[in-house]
Amino acid sequence: MIIVLKSGASDAEIGSICRRIEEMGYRAHTIRGELRTVIGAVGDDRGKERLRSLESIECVESVTPILQPFKLASREVHQGPSRVRVNGLEVGGDRLCVMAGPCSVESREQVLEVATRVKAAGASVLRGGAFKPRTSPYAFQGLEDVGLKYLAEARRETGLPIVTEVMEPDKVETVAEHADILQIGARNVQNFALLKRVAEQPKPVLLKRGMSTTVQEWLLSAEYVLSGGNPNVILCERGIRTFETSTRFTLDLNAIPVVKKLSHLPIVVDPSHGTGHWEYVESMALAAVAAGADGLIIEVHPRPEEALSDGPQSLKPDRFATLMSKVRRIAEAIGRQV
Ligand code: PEP
Ligand code: MN
Repeated sequence: MIIVLKSGASDAEIGSICRRIEEMGYRAHTIRGELRTVIGAVGDDRGKERLRSLESIECVESVTPILQPFKLASREVHQGPSRVRVNGLEVGGDRLCVMAGPCSVESREQVLEVATRVKAAGASVLRGGAFKPRTSPYAFQGLEDVGLKYLAEARRETGLPIVTEVMEPDKVETVAEHADILQIGARNVQNFALLKRVAEQPKPVLLKRGMSTTVQEWLLSAEYVLSGGNPNVILCERGIRTFETSTRFTLDLNAIPVVKKLSHLPIVVDPSHGTGHWEYVESMALAAVAAGADGLIIEVHPRPEEALSDGPQSLKPDRFATLMSKVRRIAEAIGRQV
């Protein structure tokens, strides 16, 4: 249910309504808007009608059901776009956030070199996988904890915040010690134990869409993180499975306006996995920005032919710099900045 308060409701009144909601067995999520405060009461759908009794409280304007199955992720609860803070920057505001770096962290030198190059080109977050979800058990699985150390060193050297994947609930704490954003990969979008665990810590979560998840299923996965106590979710469209075989996945650009209509959460686009071929990355990155994406995540490798994962879709640093200069022009054309 959405409890809309009259403007001017005091902190004490808000606190007392939240306590009543919790006493009824629901979780209260307070969203303070510029004009008024809204409280989202979420929990067991059965018996939610009991919350209607809150309508009798003086400072309550209305109590209405949330119609979407995803509640805290929906625009019904949070009308304006939400902004996720990552250290000094913000994802979801006027400024686009470009995350770039190798698919996998392969060595200290590789990650430091890419970090310096993508920073010079204008990226604001460094990506790189230390724990890699590989289709084959014989493929490179990542440098694991050592990879996290190299990422942390790259952050110290360049000042770029780090986004890196976490695959298991028991690794969340360790990854969160080194990373600024925790990535949940496409293959784990419905790993509910993992979603619940990242919800219990405060670092932002980059939630990739699964290759076969609908937008609604994806937003319900985001709901696990939000309802578990972490409001800092960034969605990432990274391509879905279709009948088309000329690209690795089909980048679903429709998801950008669809998500923007249904949800307040920021959405970034990954044209590297979405296409699987470096030649197509720039076109789709520009299209994503034009379509209203809040940012991009792009794989960059100094020597893609030697990459231990996803070489064919990785851009060389020079090409990434060219892409960035074009992204700036598209962003400007639609009233945004990089
Ligand atoms: C990645 O970012 O390298 C990755 C494995 O992505 P996805 O989960 O989208 O396949
Ligand atoms: Mn990859």
